[in-house]
Amino acid sequence: MNDLSALARVSAELGRNRLLVQAAGGNTSVKDDGVLWVKASGRWLAKALDEPVFVAVDLARLMAALERDDPACETCAAFVRADLSAPGLRPSVETTLHAGLPQRFVVHVHCVETLSHAILIDAEARLTSLLDGLNWRWVPYIRPGLPLFRSIAPGADVYVLQNHGLVVAADTLAEAVDLVEVVGRRLARPVHAAPGAPRSVKRAGYHFADAPALAAHAVRLAAAGSYYPDHLVFLGSGAATIDNAVGSPPVILAPGCPPLVRDDLAPAPLAMAGCMADVAARLAPDDRPRYFTAEEEYVLEHWDAEIYRQSAPEAK
Ligand SMILES: [Zn+2]
Repeated sequence: MNDLSALARVSAELGRNRLLVQAAGGNTSVKDDGVLWVKASGRWLAKALDEPVFVAVDLARLMAALERDDPACETCAAFVRADLSAPGLRPSVETTLHAGLPQRFVVHVHCVETLSHAILIDAEARLTSLLDGLNWRWVPYIRPGLPLFRSIAPGADVYVLQNHGLVVAADTLAEAVDLVEVVGRRLARPVHAAPGAPRSVKRAGYHFADAPALAAHAVRLAAAGSYYPDHLVFLGSGAATIDNAVGSPPVILAPGCPPLVRDDLAPAPLAMAGCMADVAARLAPDDRPRYFTAEEEYVLEHWDAEIYRQSAPEAK
């Protein structure tokens, strides 16, 4: 089995694990003979064995362009090896991150256990003890794409991205997968099940998501703001609660229940609603999350590559 087909097999497995990857989020890559094979924008890792999910990028041309600060590196579309790639695929918005790390394999996931720490104000201090012994770095929040690429210095195997997720890099696929598992294990937090679960809550046009029932503190923390990019771009800022919902927001939170999701939600926002509950259920009552600032939200909502990713039909 060559590296790309091995990567596709592993990517499909990672992509089917909702605690690691939700919808078209997350991306994987392998560097092989001058080509960076990276997940295409808007494609789902879960479908890596069913359809073309990886696109070939000319690594030398991309690295040279990064060296001269070429704005074409924002989308990387100009560096696609059309002779190797399926038509119509555009590289992940996080392609430069994959190119910039020297290891052969790079895996980026929106790991729920990682997020349950990485969205907290005291995340770095917590992680310093929990990840002791690993060659890891803390990466303060910065918009994905080129700014994130520039803020990541090679030299580590594990990067925890504040308010975003996890990146691991290794020269073998087995090591990369192992790192994802080790970090997930070390950062695992108990799920605070909602006591009682009064499912008498009902709202026309909504049903309960396949997700944990949220305790009152989890609803309070989750509703107060947005804490990672995919929440914002697929669900909007924060979340409505049963007490304040007006109109028909995509998700409504109520204590004791899983999120109420609108019946017509597409698969991607539905997956993000599940992720929100998976993360919120791991928060403790005294946790202090770091929400996106209004400026951070504005930047994400007006970023062209993100708008493309969100609007691509295959992303939904
Ligand atoms: Zn990401």
